[in-house]
Amino acid sequence: PLEKIPTWREENRANRKEEGKEVPGRGGLSDKVSLYKGDITVLEVDAIVNAANSSLLGGGGVDGCIHKAAGSCLYDECHSLNGCDTGKAKITCGYDLPARYVIHTVGPVARGHVSTTETNDLTSCYQNSLRLVKEHGLSSVAFPCISTGIYGFPNEPAADIALKTVKRWIEENPDSITLVIFCVFLETDFNIYKKKMAAIFQDN
Ligand code: ADP
Repeated sequence: PLEKIPTWREENRANRKEEGKEVPGRGGLSDKVSLYKGDITVLEVDAIVNAANSSLLGGGGVDGCIHKAAGSCLYDECHSLNGCDTGKAKITCGYDLPARYVIHTVGPVARGHVSTTETNDLTSCYQNSLRLVKEHGLSSVAFPCISTGIYGFPNEPAADIALKTVKRWIEENPDSITLVIFCVFLETDFNIYKKKMAAIFQDN
């Protein structure tokens, strides 16, 4: 459940106290993001983001897990959407998921190679997903590590894009979102996010 996931601020309170640093107050940037390792389909948030493919008709990885947990009504709604372009996002109901909505976004196919196009497309995935969160008046959203599985976007630069794009969005839309959860599945991503979040969401 959502209340059990500590925000980045809460997670770092003890560390910061130990280091003699000030603990940031509530409501700052670090209080609006969380790092969670595990299955995105169990999260009770307003919306979970799906790293879909352009058909929106399901596939492997996190996409397969989401369709399995949401049930066949999700497939039916996705079927009516006529696919989705790379970097864009479309929203559906969450059906049997604890999340109310699923935001389907299509990450770039990188196969280990990152140029400006892949970078811009992955940035757009996060921006367009967050725009839908705002447009639908939602306040909590969880992202998987888009494109870093089957689509082969290298983990470090993908995490950089995810964290910096979300940070910028929260700064530019301070009233629109209460919590963004970075839902990592692999130990490698957990370690990368932990290190980068300490630098990016330090608040002071
Ligand atoms: P893509 O095709 O965009 O690369 P993948 O689903 O192959 O998408 O991988 C994206 C990320 O999702 C990977 O880090 C993968 O380990 C992770 N993942 C797989 N299953 C789940 C799940 N149930 N919950 C959260 N993340 C998951």
